[in-house]
Amino acid sequence: AGILNFCANNYLGLSSHPEVIRAGVEALEQFGAGLSSVRFICGTQSIHKDLEEKISRFHQREDAILYASCFDANAGIFEALLTPEDAVLSDELNHASIIDGIRLCKANKYRYRHMDMQDLEAKLQEAQKHRLRLVATDGAFSMDGDIAPLQEICQLAEKYEALVFIDECHATGFLGPNGRGTDELFGVMDKVTIINSTLGKALGGAAGGYTTGPKPLVDLLRQRSRPYLFSNSLPPAVVGCASKALDLLMESNAIAQSMAAKTQRFRSKMTAAGFTISGQDHPICPVMLGDARLASAMADDMLSRGIYVIGFSYPVVPKGKARIRVQISAVHSDEDIDRCVEAFTEVGRKHGALP
Ligand code: PLP
Repeated sequence: AGILNFCANNYLGLSSHPEVIRAGVEALEQFGAGLSSVRFICGTQSIHKDLEEKISRFHQREDAILYASCFDANAGIFEALLTPEDAVLSDELNHASIIDGIRLCKANKYRYRHMDMQDLEAKLQEAQKHRLRLVATDGAFSMDGDIAPLQEICQLAEKYEALVFIDECHATGFLGPNGRGTDELFGVMDKVTIINSTLGKALGGAAGGYTTGPKPLVDLLRQRSRPYLFSNSLPPAVVGCASKALDLLMESNAIAQSMAAKTQRFRSKMTAAGFTISGQDHPICPVMLGDARLASAMADDMLSRGIYVIGFSYPVVPKGKARIRVQISAVHSDEDIDRCVEAFTEVGRKHGALP
């Protein structure tokens, strides 16, 4: 029956969607293979402007700016926005690209314990002495499938006059009633100031990232953000694919709903089988195993049963918290999900992870 991929960030299955592929081919034919330029010299075509407009409409923000990746968007924002008079408050489990982006800026740095609102409040109090405060968090955390408590974060931000930045790489396209992301899920779309996200996961899976938010911020990034100024423009085929992916998501939420139903099926069947699945209703479903060798041996055995999953252990996750990270996609059928659960049950029994 072939091998089923359960470890891609292809949450909505759009990387193999026929309309997305066709849009990429058409963009390639119409606009060429690439621009051989950064955006501000001769690297801007109408499709780049159209995609930026579409991204800001999708997120209901004023403007958007494209990057070669979300890693670049994260690398480029903090340095451009924050000065030594400012402060950035960052969740300790934020993605490496946020950590690197913060390293590049000269603002005062505060790291709060993972999703710990008491600690964030204490750090916000300490940071009152600075001119501007920015709270930075992943919307959904990729190792645990847990979701930042954005309502509480936004309340604290309001109380202590801070801006909120979220990285929505594991949320854009499928979290919230219309797939807009974590801010929509928690009803705080008007309270989150800046969103960075990727085109390389749910939105077609090719490459590319962006910042969306207030127009003056995007204008500032176009003037000052180094990965935007000094790196090549996104290739037309990539832009065409992402643009079509957004069209599909703005037309209907059916794909995201189908993925959510499959996530629910996987999580409840695995829990009933006796496994511990970390996170909250998210298609990232970490099967918690503890021991690194167990996670790796089980992942190998899963592959021999036709299920492609990967074991994660230290230093990617904390010591003693090894896991197999399963990721659900809208393209998995119910039968695929059941096959995956059956394989986990067999392999788990063989290795003593289940009674
Ligand atoms: N932020 C988060 C939370 C991610 O998971 C990733 C990708 O792994 C990135 C940023 C970087 O995204 P990109 O692949 O577009 O550079």
